[in-house]
Amino acid sequence: MYTARYGASIRKMVDKAIKAKNTRYECPKCRKLKLARKGTGLWACRSCDATFAGAAYSFRSEAGEIAARLIGEYAKSS
Ligand SMILES: [Zn+2]
Repeated sequence: MYTARYGASIRKMVDKAIKAKNTRYECPKCRKLKLARKGTGLWACRSCDATFAGAAYSFRSEAGEIAARLIGEYAKSS
């Protein structure tokens, strides 16, 4: 298994990213827990074949959540 060298804090960050990368997420289209990472920022559903743009190592990042909320608010106000 892959391990980062030199430092406990760096190892913790890598462990967290790898765990998030290998987790299956809920597909926004068919609601099944079948969303798997296809490449950096690419998430594909193993059930309905839909592909989504997400964060590099998890389907949603904190910055992505904020951006999605701002886009939603802007779409509502215009
Ligand atoms: Zn799906």
